[in-house]
Amino acid sequence: MDLTWSADEKAFRAEARSWLEAHVPDPALPSGDTAAGFALHLEWERALFETGYSAVSWPVEYGGRAASLWEWLIFEEEYYRVGAPQRVTQNGIFLLAPTIFEYGTDAQRSYYLPRMAAAEDLWGQGWSEPNAGSDLASLTSRAVRDEAAGGWRLTGQKTWTTRGAFCTHMFGLFRSDGDAERHRGLTYFMVPLDEPGVTVRGFGRLDGDEGFAEVFLDDVFVPDGDSDPARGGVLGDIDQGWGVAMATTTSERGLTLRSPGRFRATATRLIDLYRERAGGDPQLADAVVQGWIEAEAYELYTLSDVTQITSGGSPGARSSMNKLFWSELDVKLHLAALDILGPDAELADEPFMKGYEFALSGPIYAGTNEIQRNIAAERVLGLPRK
Ligand SMILES: Cc1cc2nc3c(=O)[nH]c(=O)nc-3n(C[C@H](O)[C@H](O)[C@H](O)COP(=O)(O)OP(=O)(O)OC[C@H]3O[C@@H](n4cnc5c(N)ncnc54)[C@H](O)[C@@H]3O)c2cc1C
Repeated sequence: MDLTWSADEKAFRAEARSWLEAHVPDPALPSGDTAAGFALHLEWERALFETGYSAVSWPVEYGGRAASLWEWLIFEEEYYRVGAPQRVTQNGIFLLAPTIFEYGTDAQRSYYLPRMAAAEDLWGQGWSEPNAGSDLASLTSRAVRDEAAGGWRLTGQKTWTTRGAFCTHMFGLFRSDGDAERHRGLTYFMVPLDEPGVTVRGFGRLDGDEGFAEVFLDDVFVPDGDSDPARGGVLGDIDQGWGVAMATTTSERGLTLRSPGRFRATATRLIDLYRERAGGDPQLADAVVQGWIEAEAYELYTLSDVTQITSGGSPGARSSMNKLFWSELDVKLHLAALDILGPDAELADEPFMKGYEFALSGPIYAGTNEIQRNIAAERVLGLPRK
């Protein structure tokens, strides 16, 4: 692993830093998981797009800058360093897009990616159902073939769709072969949420934000493959959706959703907070130092992953270990901050409290940490299933 940056990479960092410092919204935007905040985040997303920063590592023809994975990491580090807004387009850009690059057709790439980069199409993730969370393969939403119309009719209910109340599109898994065994007979669909038969019902989260949604589908038509992308389509092969969905979860647990820059920025803010507020308390110092060391460790682990990926490897099940690490680190960093703040942590709009509340959901979303431990035990360590 080469830990030095080239002259080009240093120049890329300097350019990104100066643009971000000049453009980052000040004061910070309200939460993008509220209707008002989301609208403001879209303006920011479009400003990023104008400069090719919304999806830096994508080819220029799709709205990116053709940056390398290393440059993407640099961009992310600079992004969080200046305290730039959360990415409300993340489910599209960081989860669906890598799957479209891997499994999509040229027509799908040309249609969906530029619109996603420009924050015109906003994607929600339609995995979970009222009776299918950890055991996703038990999902019952179904896709029935409509031969005459040349497509599929989707019926069922999805839930916990992050920012679904504000999204224009959803990707998700549907059972296309009712007779097949659990993981077989599932197909990966992309659906515009303004199609007839779709009802989106937003609901609030425990922290007061309103971004979650339930999505009901009642005989919603989606055309075959890439025959008419504006009306949605199928990603990958019919009945092979499980494998396609696993590519999306590898992005969600692994490299793209939570880059190390995010945690290094929190660790740096934690150190600043300690200096301002902790009065040199040695016990609080231990927690701060431990948090900083773990943020550094996560960065090094990610660099080794990128080294592997750029040499043709794939993180596969190792992404579960990644997810365990970042989700638990996020909780620890915020807890250390709350300990420093003491009763002041309870004051309205304290960013570390808001961050803590969200960090608590990290061990649940992207597949719970109990499930990630099972995956790591069986598929990385090779332990027996029982
Ligand atoms: C902030 C947030 C955002 C989310 N966004 C989305 C989204 O955009 N789209 C979407 O589809 N879903 C989303 N989810 C839902 C998330 O994917 C599910 O909550 C998660 O997969 C767990 O499913 P569940 O809630 O049904 O819990 P369950 O599956 O019912 O699990 C309950 C408990 O049992 C444990 N458990 C279950 N099975 C096992 C096992 N085999 N071994 C050991 N322990 C087990 C779990 O770890 C958990 O602690 C989101 C969740 C959160 C918190």
